[in-house]
Formats: sequence, structure tokens, C-alpha cells
Amino acid sequence: MALNYFEEEVCSMRIIVIGAGAVGAACALSLAEAGADVVVIDRTGVAGETSSRCEGNILVSDKQPGAEAVMAIEANRAWRELAARLDAERVPGQPATEFEAKGGVVVAFGGGSATLERFAAAQREIGIRAEVLDASALRAAEPHLAADVALGVYYPDDAQVQPSLATQAMLAGARRAGARLRIAEVTDAVVEAGRVRGVRTRTDLIDADAVVNCAGPWAGEIAALFSAALDIRPRRGTILVTTAMPQRVFHKVYDADYVGAVGSGEAALQTSTVVESTPAGTVLIGSSRERVGFSEDGLLAPLAEVAAKATRLFPFLRDTMLLRTYFGFRPYTPDHLPAIGADAHVAGLFHAAGHEGAGIGLAPTTGMLIAHAVLGTAASLDPSPFLPSRSTLQGVAA
Ligand SMILES: Cc1cc2nc3c(=O)[nH]c(=O)nc-3n(C[C@H](O)[C@H](O)[C@H](O)COP(=O)(O)OP(=O)(O)OC[C@H]3O[C@@H](n4cnc5c(N)ncnc54)[C@H](O)[C@@H]3O)c2cc1C
Repeated sequence: MALNYFEEEVCSMRIIVIGAGAVGAACALSLAEAGADVVVIDRTGVAGETSSRCEGNILVSDKQPGAEAVMAIEANRAWRELAARLDAERVPGQPATEFEAKGGVVVAFGGGSATLERFAAAQREIGIRAEVLDASALRAAEPHLAADVALGVYYPDDAQVQPSLATQAMLAGARRAGARLRIAEVTDAVVEAGRVRGVRTRTDLIDADAVVNCAGPWAGEIAALFSAALDIRPRRGTILVTTAMPQRVFHKVYDADYVGAVGSGEAALQTSTVVESTPAGTVLIGSSRERVGFSEDGLLAPLAEVAAKATRLFPFLRDTMLLRTYFGFRPYTPDHLPAIGADAHVAGLFHAAGHEGAGIGLAPTTGMLIAHAVLGTAASLDPSPFLPSRSTLQGVAA
């Protein structure tokens, strides 16, 4: 079944989606299924940047009450239906999204227990399921955790996908609905009398009635091509991957201080532990946050700090082999909310960017909001907290 937000849809708009990451793929899927003529343009390929350099967590557990939490709850539901549909519709040879509704366990060492319990209580008030585990339930859930972990809270709705495969699956779905993919770099905008008319690549001019900017950490640069302002900056993150092993981590397990790192705007290095096993048997260990522009230097310090904290949480990791490490650039906004909707000044320009560490999780709901914004229909989720016209995004990205 398609995402049927638009019951009697007949849409003849030509829409360019810039970016074939998770967010662009989700927007292309929603727009194509609503009947629009969609062209996706990406200079690297499908999931060629941040959407393949991340984990695939679909979390409600790290969201504090507010607009993003409401969206995350909705997106968590949407992913369940979408992943099942994309997996069912895949063609022979196409891998599955690896959607796993495995649940999350957030843990605290001594001092952090009271804060974690208060956080979980506030989340329950907005409908996030969060169960405090007693010592024996915690051991049963995660037998290999460090003995001095003081508290665990279980979030049954946390889930994950393999982000690169899930992005490819969304784009494949969009293409089945008629979307086309062009591998090209968008180098300029075509705007006449304040209205978008298309984009230029190095070789072509492509006409459009609307453009959706899904360029992730480069979304500010794309906005600038249209003389629009959108303050989105890169926030680098690193991940370690172990070799495959028998499963010893059964949920998405992370230290409660991760929530503080997510919510902080610090430019300096911050690390917190997120550990999860994958269907391939590897263990993903994240993650760090630092604002160093698009620099690829100085990766050892964050990797070492993440590794040290992970072995504190799961001591068995000390004796495991690393397969590889990788890093990516989260699209960061100064107010920690994604920018989704119409540009404040340029008619026909829409933005869907700035999801920082939650772009995989929030992708389907972002696609839904963008389709409604572009086609001018009413969404079931209040789009106003995410509008790109908010004052906090009108500065110049630094
Ligand atoms: C270490 C790390 C861990 C993370 N873990 C998670 C997680 O567990 N769960 C979660 O939800 N999120 C996570 N994230 C965040 C998530 O990866 C991002 O929010 C998400 O991938 C952003 O997707 P996007 O489509 O906006 O950007 P991208 O995937 O970066 O896509 C943008 C695309 O735009 C293209 N582009 C840019 N400029 C141009 C141009 N001029 N012309 C043509 N194409 C252009 C790029 O080639 C790129 O493919 C993590 C990120 C990192 C770095």
C-alpha cells in the first residue's frame, strides 16, 4: 500500500529534489507517490554521504518532550509500515532495509540515575513508553553490561534500519512511482521574478515548478545558490565497527549522557556511548560530536574517547577486534530542529534538511510534511515548529 496522504491525487508538478540521502529519498518517495513528476539530483549517488556514514537508529528514547519528540513518535510508527512495505515490494537481488524493532536500553552509572528517571517520567507524559528496569531485569536484558551500571530504562519502541539500504529502498520505491535519478552536481539556481524555475548542473538546465533542498550538511550552500539563507552546519561524528561475533548486545544500548550530547550545541568534542549489534554480527560503537567544519583531520582523539567509554559500558569490547571506523557530517541547526517547508523568500523553494543526528529516524515523516507543503495540502502533523522561516535559521552558516 502506498503512503496515501493524498486520496484523490492528480498532480502534474515537476519537482526537483536535490540530494539522494535518506531525507531526499523520503521526499522523492512521498512526492512521486502523490503523483508529482520528480527528478532527484545528487552529485555522489544514492546515500553517498551522511546517510551511509551513520547508524540507523530510529529513536524515541533520546527525545525530550517538544516538537521533535512528537515528530519522532510519528516517524517511529511510519517506519514500521514503510519498512514492511519497501521490503515486500523489493525486486529480486535487492537487499532488505534490515528494519529491527529491537528496543533500546538507556543506562546510567551512579550519579546519573535520578536524572535518567526524571527524563523517562517526562517522556511517559507525552506517550513515549519507558520502563525502569530493576537490577535483575536489566541483567536479563543485557547480561554483558558492566556490573556497576546503576539503572536501566527500557524503550520498547526504539528501532533501527541499515541506513544505506533503507535509503536505497526508499529511492527504489520513488523510482517505481515514476521518479528519475540524475547523478550530477547542482551548480546554480534559476529564479525569475522571485520564483524558482529550475536548476543548472555542470552540463544541463533542468526546469521545475518547485525545488526541494535535501542537501544535508550542504543545504546552506544550496540555499545560497537561490540567494536564500539557511543556517545549517556540519557536525562531525565517528563510529567504530567490530568484526562479526556471536550476539552479546541485544538492544540499542546507550549511556544517558548521550541525550545531553545530542541537545548540546558545543563546538568542542563531545562523546557518549551508543552500542548496538547488527544482523551481520558486527557491533557498531558510536559516537562523537564536534563542529570542525568539513575537516577530515584529527579523527584519532574522538575514536579513542568513544572506544574508552564503550569498554566502560561493555567490558567484553576490550578484547574484540575492530574491523573499521568511519565518520560523517551531521547536518546541524543552531536550534536543534530540522528545517522542513517553504523558504521564507523564494517562491517554489522548499527545504528538508538539518536533521542532525536523527535524519534516518525522521525521514518518512519529513517526506510526508514536504509533500504536503509542496502540494499545498494539510498535514496531520503540525509543521510550524520546523518551518525554515524561523529566525534562528536566517543567519549565515559559520
Ligand atoms: C556518526 C553519525 C551517526 C549517526 N547516527 C544516526 C542514527 O543512528 N539515526 C539517525 O536517524 N541519524 C543518524 N545520524 C544522522 C543522519 O546520518 C543524518 O541526519 C542523515 O543522514 C541526513 O540525511 P540527508 O539526506 O539530509 O543528508 P545526506 O545523506 O548527506 O544527503 C545529502 C545529499 O546531498 C548531495 N548534495 C549536496 N550538495 C549537492 C549539490 N550541489 N548537487 C547535487 N547533490 C548535492 C550529497 O551528495 C548528499 O548525497 C548520524 C550521523 C552521523 C555522522
